Amino acid sequence: MELACLDLEGVLIPEIWIEFAERTGIDELRATTRDIPVYDTLMKQRLRLLAENNLGLADIQAVIAELSPLPGAAEFLDWLREHFQVIILSDTFYEFALPLMRQLGYPTLFCHRLKVDDKGMVVDYELRQKDPKRQSVIALHSLYYRVIAAGDSYNDTTMLAEADAGILFMAPQNVIEEFPHFPAVHSYQDLKAAFASASERSIIV
Ligand SMILES: [Mg+2]
Repeated sequence: MELACLDLEGVLIPEIWIEFAERTGIDELRATTRDIPVYDTLMKQRLRLLAENNLGLADIQAVIAELSPLPGAAEFLDWLREHFQVIILSDTFYEFALPLMRQLGYPTLFCHRLKVDDKGMVVDYELRQKDPKRQSVIALHSLYYRVIAAGDSYNDTTMLAEADAGILFMAPQNVIEEFPHFPAVHSYQDLKAAFASASERSIIV
């Protein structure tokens, strides 16, 4: 049996923090795992900036409610779910992802939770576990699934390596060059073809 694991931000939806930075004008909030590979360093910076600018969860959610999945993402996900059981493995938070999950038909999502105080301020975050994307693939292997995974950034590379086949989708050039053993594609049509070719079954794209 085969499973598909997909990253979320940069693959199906825009980078939430970048969109939020643009709408609030706080330039430092543009940083993502593409810029700061150590996730805790990145999150500590984000929480500090939110506190300094007196921005709470409601402000962030108001921005996210205006976002849409990337053009073609919903159709791609529908296609993928016809051919594979799909699990989205993300380093985002359930509190952020919900309005976008609605637009994607609520696919299965493994991610993290935020800690919010009684004034609605984001005070901390709770990671589901360490190296969660790779751990998820290890767990799925223990269920005897063959896993094909796709992602766009540093925080996906341990997942891609642990999977039976890993694919880079719309990754920046530095990630492609650092991980040349993963095929790199840049359109949903090519991503479909990459999943089909990584599959042990015959899948018509
Ligand atoms: Mg991503």
